[in-house]
Amino acid sequence: MRLVTAKSNNKIYVGAIVDNQFVPSAEHQNMIDLLSGGEQSLVKLQKQIDAGTDLIPLADVELLAPVTRPGKYLGVSLNYADHIRETGLEQPEYPTFFNKQITSVIGPGQAIQRPKVSEKLDYEGELGLVIGRRCRHVTREQARHVIAGYTICNDVSVRDWQMRSHTWTLGKSFDTHGPIGPWIVTADELGDPHTLAIKTWVNDEQRQSSNTSQLIFDCYDLVEYLSIVMTLEPGDIIATGTSSGVGVKMKPRGYMKPGDIVRVEIEKIGVLENPVIEEPENNTFID
Ligand code: MG
Repeated sequence: MRLVTAKSNNKIYVGAIVDNQFVPSAEHQNMIDLLSGGEQSLVKLQKQIDAGTDLIPLADVELLAPVTRPGKYLGVSLNYADHIRETGLEQPEYPTFFNKQITSVIGPGQAIQRPKVSEKLDYEGELGLVIGRRCRHVTREQARHVIAGYTICNDVSVRDWQMRSHTWTLGKSFDTHGPIGPWIVTADELGDPHTLAIKTWVNDEQRQSSNTSQLIFDCYDLVEYLSIVMTLEPGDIIATGTSSGVGVKMKPRGYMKPGDIVRVEIEKIGVLENPVIEEPENNTFID
């Protein structure tokens, strides 16, 4: 099943995409509630799909980030062998997590803003996993059962701000720098998440091409390790790391600029595409 959050007539729905139709859940209003309902929620949604009523043409809805406000959004650094080679760094002994603040999250088609304070705006195409069950201290074997599904993440990074601190938090967390989507493909439908081709383009130029088989710590390792420390909850997102080909390692540097379109494609999931714009001149607000 492909799970989405979508806007139609100024209302926000959660539901599934089937062919070119959106099936809004009759029971849940947001993705975290839907995922929290577990298998039962999905069975009910499947019944709605089978009934074939209340369908909305896909052309009439705007897809938002599948989880618009995840409780947590973590990234992993140096998790592809080819990316480690291009950085010249040592392969880490343990997975290295960092935070992306949830206010960075945007959906498919929404604009990534190049901040006023930097031109070092980079892309990182990544497989994202979405937690489906509240859990702690899960084994690698259990980990596969707490993952609701998979999505595409672009771990947009502002390289100079990233390197100003060891935590990387600010350089990974500018508003609009967390594009995710366009949907969550449920784990049962996707099958093995570790055999997927993953590619990134800026405009027509392919910048990244790898396969999730190259992950050093795979999805199950990451969930097992993280759950030693913290309770994971439905809707939490982990971006599993990027492959080689990031703009900062190109000569000359291949940073994104306003007018560019960045596109990340993962086999069996789909395409996440976002335009790049300049941060608006008047972007100050106090609500
Ligand atoms: Mg990354």
